Amino acid sequence: MKGNYIAGVLHQPRRRSARAGRRAGAGIIALMSRLVALDIGGTHLRAAQYEAGSSKPLARERVLTLADQPGAYDRLRDLIRSIWPSDAQVIAIGAASPGPLDPRAGVVLKPPNIPEWVDFPLVQRLSNDFGVPAFLDNDGNAAVLGEWVFGAARGHHDVLYITVSTGIGAGVIVEDRVLHGFHGLAAELGHVIIDPDGPPCNCGFRGHLESFASGPAIARYVAEQLAQGRGSSLRGVPDLTTWIIADAARPGDSLAQAAFQRAGEYLGIAVAGFLHAFDPSIVIFGGGVSSVGPLLFDAFHASLKERTFHPRYLEGLKIEMAALGEDVGLLGALALAQTALHL
Ligand SMILES: [Zn+2]
Repeated sequence: MKGNYIAGVLHQPRRRSARAGRRAGAGIIALMSRLVALDIGGTHLRAAQYEAGSSKPLARERVLTLADQPGAYDRLRDLIRSIWPSDAQVIAIGAASPGPLDPRAGVVLKPPNIPEWVDFPLVQRLSNDFGVPAFLDNDGNAAVLGEWVFGAARGHHDVLYITVSTGIGAGVIVEDRVLHGFHGLAAELGHVIIDPDGPPCNCGFRGHLESFASGPAIARYVAEQLAQGRGSSLRGVPDLTTWIIADAARPGDSLAQAAFQRAGEYLGIAVAGFLHAFDPSIVIFGGGVSSVGPLLFDAFHASLKERTFHPRYLEGLKIEMAALGEDVGLLGALALAQTALHL
């Protein structure tokens, strides 16, 4: 597949930012051209059109994914048409989608949110329908690429991105390349085993990081403790969410505080292992649960320091919040297309 534009060429020997590409004259054609970015989420499909070399969208739209209803690809195709430029040439489409997927073949294997897309050749369909090269990667890999090209990780060469939300996703850049592995399935760091006898994970296995530190994992711990009779202002509260628990923790509810401390401690255990594996210069946290701040991160930092087996890993290490916010999917997909085209 090498050299074929439907293959995801997802690395380059040296990172060149869009700005560097422009300086180096990446092509007058590229400057007059457009890129289309797609963020395929469980709730929304998003599409945006960018001028090559710019991260400011010229057009953007979104529609409901309606994942349980047939026709997700048709909705995506109509959405792309709605932002497709009439006055300029599109040179590539970049797409970020939940995995697992095969980024090199451009095939979505079994997304948790769109059940009809089993072994779905998304890149081929997009290339055929729009007549341009298309590139696909999972949302974690796209996010780390987006933060690297446009966000908090600019200038770094070794980057760890972790999003803590309803699940835990990740992306890793090692020595200026997105880590994909043999099957393209690397960096599923939410599904690293922390405790083989731990709670069930969304994926069906037990004791994964996601089963300890995701939003639902925090809520489940609170519910279990309440069921065992522990006192808390949360007793009787229906539909416990991360936000409700955080609101109880801040004025001093000990169970709510303990739930975040526990999640932070497990996150620290996991990230210590990731430092040992990847030795990044920056760890970036995205996702809604990360936004609770010290409730989670005081325990995280203490746990990380305690579990890192040599202090050298922590020297100069930056730990920051993601910079791209909810645009991370689109900008990740844009960065994917740009990087693949060496723009
Ligand atoms: Zn799992």
